[in-house]
Amino acid sequence: MSKRTLASLDPTNLDGQRVVVRLDLNVPMADGAITDDTRIRAALPTVQYLRQYGARVVLLSHFGRPKGGPDPKYSLKPIARDLERRLGSPVVFLDDPTTEASVTAVRRLPRGGVALAENTRFFPGEEANDPALAARFAALGDIFVNDAFGTAHRAHASTEGIAHLVKPAVSGFLMEKELQFLGDAVNAPVRPFVAILGGAKISGKIDLIEALLPKVDHILIGGAMACTFFKAMGLEVGNSLVEEDRVPMARRLLEESGSQLVLPTGARIAERLDGSAPTQDVPRDQIPAGWAMFDIDPSSVTAFADIIGTARTVIWNGPMGVFETPPFDAGTLGVARALAGATAAGAITIVGGGDSAAAVTAAGLETQVSHVSTGGGASLEFLEGKPLPGVAALDDAT
Ligand code: ADP
Ligand code: MG
Repeated sequence: MSKRTLASLDPTNLDGQRVVVRLDLNVPMADGAITDDTRIRAALPTVQYLRQYGARVVLLSHFGRPKGGPDPKYSLKPIARDLERRLGSPVVFLDDPTTEASVTAVRRLPRGGVALAENTRFFPGEEANDPALAARFAALGDIFVNDAFGTAHRAHASTEGIAHLVKPAVSGFLMEKELQFLGDAVNAPVRPFVAILGGAKISGKIDLIEALLPKVDHILIGGAMACTFFKAMGLEVGNSLVEEDRVPMARRLLEESGSQLVLPTGARIAERLDGSAPTQDVPRDQIPAGWAMFDIDPSSVTAFADIIGTARTVIWNGPMGVFETPPFDAGTLGVARALAGATAAGAITIVGGGDSAAAVTAAGLETQVSHVSTGGGASLEFLEGKPLPGVAALDDAT
């Protein structure tokens, strides 16, 4: 069932209304500075649209993982100042959005004015989805807009609970875009449809593999996950990261869907994960004892790129190697470039997964793929076919 969207509301009815917008402003920071502002930039279109039509806009977001109450380290106050610069207008900061004083402050906002509430996780009951806290958040608005795709897989007071209490409850522009790209890819893919999976652990991606197998033409497997499959094929994997308890499952997957699963033909290996240790590129059946696979090798990149080049829909979750440590970033970069090439040739290409998205952004290729999801865990759960509580609670489209 598709969900009611902000775009479907008559904008002339927004004038003077108090609109509570749940955003995902959980950006990475170092020494008080934002190191990647992707999520803030992605949130702006919804905020600007509401302001343009005269709404009073109240922003809610979590930030980091404060343990058991307020912690100045996780205050959203620095983000309020950042938003003021981007919007070119003042942002009222609500230290405690659960108070009557905050309700009054919101009523006093000018048309087009913006308030940002302190970190939702500072308030007891947020993560337990306490109805009393949801009611306090709900008291701030006449309309609820959920634009926090990155948190949509969590049923929290500011994502799920509030959506039952403020009506209408609709998706924002970012949420709509995420659901459209990911939804079309899995429900109505233009074929050939290719998935690329990597990352550290096969255990975290089993549900994804099982959910995708009936839908895709091929799954390309990289990352440490490939090593568990190698082991299941009876190959020597040296000291590579293998999940022993998943070897039987990998063997079963190979038996049942052998031709759909495409494994690397070779490995980039080293004795230690250390940029200065000697590396070698070897065929997958020649990983020596004492060495470990930290990336797919160039022959695998070529083989993967050939398949990606024939695809009309591609989804990618999980890096091909330890991309944080060159030269083990080459496989991930090669796949990112292949995605850019496929996009230029007309394919729909989607990157989900926090680390894969970061790798594509670091390579400067984020504008050369169709869509980079802002939600790592949420995109994974969506692709697994699990309902996202933050989306499910929104009004159904009529
Ligand atoms: P995503 O966030 O894109 O879903 P994951 O979190 O599943 O990806 O996995 C990312 C991690 O996997 C990275 O930190 C990367 O270093 C690690 N990784 C990838 N390949 C290997 C490998 N061959 N050996 C060890 N770690 C790996
Ligand atoms: Mg990750």
